[in-house]
Amino acid sequence: MEDFQYHAPGSVDAAVSLLRDAEDGKVVAGGMSLLPLMKLGLAAPGGLVSLGKVSGLDGIADRGSEIEVGALCTHAQVAAAEIVRERIPALAAMAEGIGDAQVRNRGTIGGSVAHNDPAADYPAACLALGATIATDRREIAADDFFLGMFFTALEEDEVITAVRFPVPTRAGWAKFPNPASKYAVAGVMAADGPAGVRVAVTGASGDGVFRVAEMEAALASSFEPASVAGVSVSAEAMLSDDAAGPEYRAHLVTVMAKRAVEEA
Ligand SMILES: Cc1cc2nc3c(=O)[nH]c(=O)nc-3n(C[C@H](O)[C@H](O)[C@H](O)COP(=O)(O)OP(=O)(O)OC[C@H]3O[C@@H](n4cnc5c(N)ncnc54)[C@H](O)[C@@H]3O)c2cc1C
Repeated sequence: MEDFQYHAPGSVDAAVSLLRDAEDGKVVAGGMSLLPLMKLGLAAPGGLVSLGKVSGLDGIADRGSEIEVGALCTHAQVAAAEIVRERIPALAAMAEGIGDAQVRNRGTIGGSVAHNDPAADYPAACLALGATIATDRREIAADDFFLGMFFTALEEDEVITAVRFPVPTRAGWAKFPNPASKYAVAGVMAADGPAGVRVAVTGASGDGVFRVAEMEAALASSFEPASVAGVSVSAEAMLSDDAAGPEYRAHLVTVMAKRAVEEA
C-alpha cells in the first residue's frame, strides 16, 4: 500500500475542501470497497478523507412520499430500520442480503452507490425505485447517476449526503448471490411506484446496472410474475466469470425478475 495523508474532518464542507486540496484525494466511508483496492495496489489516493466524524449523515427519515437515507447509513441500519421495513420492505430485504454481517455493519449506502460496482445491490434499488442522490452541491436522479461499471456522474470532489427513495405502491427484490462473496450474479428489483413500473438488474451486465424495457411494458399491462416469465434478455453484454457464463446469467435475470414480482 502506498503512503497517504489521512484526514477526519467534522463537516461535509471541510471534507470537500480537503478533497480539493489533496493530490488525488478520495473519500472513505466504510472502507469495504476502497481499502481492498488500496491493499491490492489498484487505488493509491494521496489523501484519504474519512467521513467518520461528519455528523448528520447517518439518519433515516420519513419524508412522507419519500424515505431519506443518510449517506453514512450502513446496510445493517437500513435492513433494521422500522420505517424502511414498513414502507419499502423490498429495500430492507435488499440491504439484509448484502455480503456478510461484517460488510453490512461497515459498508454504507453512500459508498455503495458512489462505487457503482456492477454486482452491487443498491444501484438496482435506486434505479427501480427512481431514487434521487443528494450531494453537497446538487440532486442527481438515479437515471442520470449510474453511467457504467464503476462510473457515476459524481465529480472528483463531490460528496454524497443522502439517497431519497420514493415510496412505491409495491416493490420486490430477488438476488442469485455468488456463494462466496454474496455479490449478485444476477439481482433484480421490480417496482411499481411514482417513477412508473420499473425493472432494474444488477450483477449481470458488464455495463453495470440496467433496466429491462420489455419487462416493464409487460408489467405495466399486468403486474404479475407470468408477465415477465417469458421475457428473455440478450446474453450478448452479460458478464462471464467463475460463477456464471453469459447465457446462464441472462437466464437468471428472467428467473430473478419473476421472483422479484412475486415478492412485490
Ligand atoms: C466480502 C464483501 C462482500 C460484499 N458483498 C456485497 C453484496 O452482496 N452486495 C453489495 O451491494 N455490496 C457488497 N459488498 C460491497 C459493500 O456493500 C461496500 O460496503 C460498498 O460497496 C462500499 O461502501 P463503503 O461505505 O464501504 O465505501 P468505501 O469503501 O469507503 O468507498 C467506496 C467508494 O465510494 C466513495 N465514497 C464513499 N462514500 C462516499 C460519499 N458519501 N460520497 C462520495 N463518494 C463516496 C469512495 O471514495 C470510494 O471510491 C461487499 C464487500 C465485501 C468486502
